[in-house]
Amino acid sequence: MTENGASKRPAGGPRKITILGSTGSVGVSTLDLLDFAFGQGEAQIEIEALTANRNVEALAAQARKFKPKFVAVADATLGDDLRAAVAGLDVETGAGAMAIEEAAERDADWVMAAIVGAAGLGPTLKAAQRGGAVALANKECLVCAGDIVTAAIAKSGGVLLPVDSEHNAIFQVFDFERPNRVSRLILTASGGPFRTWSADEMAKASPAQAVAHPNWSMGAKISVDSATMMNKGLELIEAAHIFPIPHERIEILVHPQSVIHSMVEYVDGSVLAQLGTPDMRTPIASTLAWPDRMPSPSAKLDFAKISKLTFEAPDLERFPAIRLAREAITAGGIMPATLNAANEVAVAAFLNGDVKFLDIAAITEQVVEQVSRQENPAALETLEEAIAADSQARRLAEVCVAVRAAA
Ligand code: NDP
Repeated sequence: MTENGASKRPAGGPRKITILGSTGSVGVSTLDLLDFAFGQGEAQIEIEALTANRNVEALAAQARKFKPKFVAVADATLGDDLRAAVAGLDVETGAGAMAIEEAAERDADWVMAAIVGAAGLGPTLKAAQRGGAVALANKECLVCAGDIVTAAIAKSGGVLLPVDSEHNAIFQVFDFERPNRVSRLILTASGGPFRTWSADEMAKASPAQAVAHPNWSMGAKISVDSATMMNKGLELIEAAHIFPIPHERIEILVHPQSVIHSMVEYVDGSVLAQLGTPDMRTPIASTLAWPDRMPSPSAKLDFAKISKLTFEAPDLERFPAIRLAREAITAGGIMPATLNAANEVAVAAFLNGDVKFLDIAAITEQVVEQVSRQENPAALETLEEAIAADSQARRLAEVCVAVRAAA
């Protein structure tokens, strides 16, 4: 837990922005919001850089429309393809992991960190070290190395603006001047597509069923994380890094309608919440305009049509990922990075058809147990240690995947 600079409010809105992961779900929503804002005459914004992993075609189309100064793909073999795809445009190009970091380091007031997974850690850290506003969607980087990222932001004088809808909701109603008056954070969860499924039904779930989220349209990895509820576990760890509240006072509550995006309870019993339709353009707009507000094309809530708001406790038996995340943050050190990397490998294997849905949490638990027996989980002070923990967990998880795939 560190200061997140929330009290440092810069004068005026952002002028130059960069989107890391611009071809993904959050990246596209960010550009869609900008398009809307340009149309309304609301935004005086230049786009500095846009990045992707391999999707050259989508990145080139974005370059044609939004005229960034720099575009980069993480896959080093696609540099020529990218150059060819943007031929004739006044834009520099780059390829490879270093090019993504270069994009993150370029002069920008506001950087959207929307790469998926631990791959976002290096570039997000570069943006954090530069100063300015880091709009953070990439929760995995806080899970892997939260203290390192938040310390970098504090040192550079920048500000972390949470994009994840739950953390953005809390950010909007959290009293950073009086954090000692907060008694609880309540992270709401939709419960995902398998909220009402039995364990037997979940055992047979296909990737297509797992990514079919009932309320939100998101990338494949976070959609599977929502189905296992690991997403909420990762968010618990993320929240403990963003807000000065110990994880023991952060609760998870299933709220299937996804209208209340999270809540803050104060010592006098008052509970403040942020509500909205499930559309990422609302939290993105709040970070883009912060500390001001800007119009967004998101549908507005129609309270008369919402017949009920319901709540239930999460089922830790059917969704062990929540317990695993709580155990990882309690152990500290390299355990959250280990949990995250094992989960990433297991989710990729599930999406690839190599393992079953319930194997995701089982593999993650197996890796976490192996590492907690081997290592001193207290140690994680440098980026290199976080990367080493991530690599070790990936190797162990790949072995577990191979064993289960062969069974
Ligand atoms: P997507 O999978 O839709 O997009 C991921 C983006 O990252 C794409 O631009 C992709 O490029 C790029 N990318 C993937 N791998 C790499 C890599 N190794 N190096 C560099 N870039 C890479 O993800 P989402 O937009 O759904 O999620 C992004 C992040 O935001 C995740 O951390 C997620 O947990 C978080 N988040 C997402 C929400 C949502 O509504 N989607 C809500 C809240 C948080 P390419 O297109 O070429 O593959």
